[in-house]
Parts: sequence; structure tokens; C-alpha cells
Amino acid sequence: MSCGALEWGSLLEAPHATPVSPRRTPGAFHRPGPHQQEGPITAVYEGAVQDLIDELGRLPGIGPKSAQRVAFHILEADAEDMKRLAEAITTVKEKVKFCEICFNVSEDATCRICQDTRRDQTVICVVEESKDVMAIERTRSFRGRYHVLGGAISPIAGIGPDQLHIRELLNRLSDETITEIVIATDPNLEGEATATYLVRMLKPLGITLTRLASGLPVGGDLEYADDVTLGRAFEGRRALS
Ligand SMILES: [Zn+2]
Repeated sequence: MSCGALEWGSLLEAPHATPVSPRRTPGAFHRPGPHQQEGPITAVYEGAVQDLIDELGRLPGIGPKSAQRVAFHILEADAEDMKRLAEAITTVKEKVKFCEICFNVSEDATCRICQDTRRDQTVICVVEESKDVMAIERTRSFRGRYHVLGGAISPIAGIGPDQLHIRELLNRLSDETITEIVIATDPNLEGEATATYLVRMLKPLGITLTRLASGLPVGGDLEYADDVTLGRAFEGRRALS
């Protein structure tokens, strides 16, 4: 295939216009990001290159321009490096599945957290995604087990309670001896809607329900905190002993 100067020229014009956004992607909601509504870079390249750009462009946080940039990086990169990348993707899809109990990612039928008998078996922390489990684990503040919902309720994205692992959570509550559920959904619209729904479902069961406190970021300035965060921080204030 010819890799003409024209193509490279158009590529070089705005290669850094759409940096990969460092902000958190919105959980499992597969709604198109704003960059996907910008003028798409439609089928400019031939076969395999365009296929790669299209596939990369479907990844979260990667718009058409970033997809193009990554695709050309892959084209130019060392073949062995890219083979390792391809193998890592294949392996993760073949080997990694979801825990039968909590739906965390796992290489076995159940994840290592569910297998760990030293953990508090009476407390379940409900999160949206497996990556939230990792985030909480890093804090070493929680010694119970988890339940991964697989997203959050979002009418816009067409995700209702039935698409999440809520029924499985209720099954766990009838099978296991659980005394506390910590609701740790994201502090955004969808996460709050999910938390509200969970509270409605779980309250009649007589289990202690707790919600992660929302507060001010460490190292932040009060004057820069948004009203909702500051309001929540007030609501969640603690007595000093
Ligand atoms: Zn598990």
C-alpha cells in the first residue's frame, strides 16, 4: 500500500488535538463520548489500518484522532512489542473471567478475596466495577468482601436494575450471614440513583446499610470545593474525640 505524503500530511496537521483524557471514564456506561460526535475520520485508510482505527476508536476515552495516532504508533512500533500486546489481550480474554460469587475479575471460578477466609464474611461492599474493588483494596481500610454490580443504573444508557448483578446480591443475602452492606457506588448521578435503588431494596431486610462518606480531597482548598462536595462534607462530619 502506498503511504503517501498526503496521508501523512493530514495526519500530522492535528495529531495532538485530542489527547487521551486522563479523567475517569464513566464506568460501564457505553455511551459515546463527546469526541465520538465530532466529525468522524471516516474510512480514509485502506483495509487493515482502517479496521484497526475503527476498533481502537470503540475503546473508552479514545476518539477518532487518538485512535488514528495509536494505530500509526502500532504500525511503526517493534513487531515483537506489538505481538506481546496482542497476546496480552488474547490471554486476558481467554483466562480472566468473573467471580461466581462477587463478579470481581478472577482467573478462577471464585476470586482471591472471596476465597480468603480471614476476611470479614459478614460485610459486603457494593461497587460498580472491578476497578473500584482495586481502588478500595489499595486503601487497606476494608476487610470485608465485595459485590460488583457491573455498572450503575442509567436510563440514558438503557441500563436498569435487571442489567446489573442486583438479583445475585439479594441471593447472597439469603444464603450468607451478612450484617452490613456498604454502598460504594460512584458519587455521580448514576451512582446515586443506584444507591437509592439499593437502599429501597435492602432496607426491608433489616441489614445495616452504610454509604461511603463524600468529603473534601486531601490537599485541597475549601474555597475551590464545589457546593455539592462541600455540602456532603458537612453532612458527613464526625465528632472529634
Ligand atoms: Zn469474588
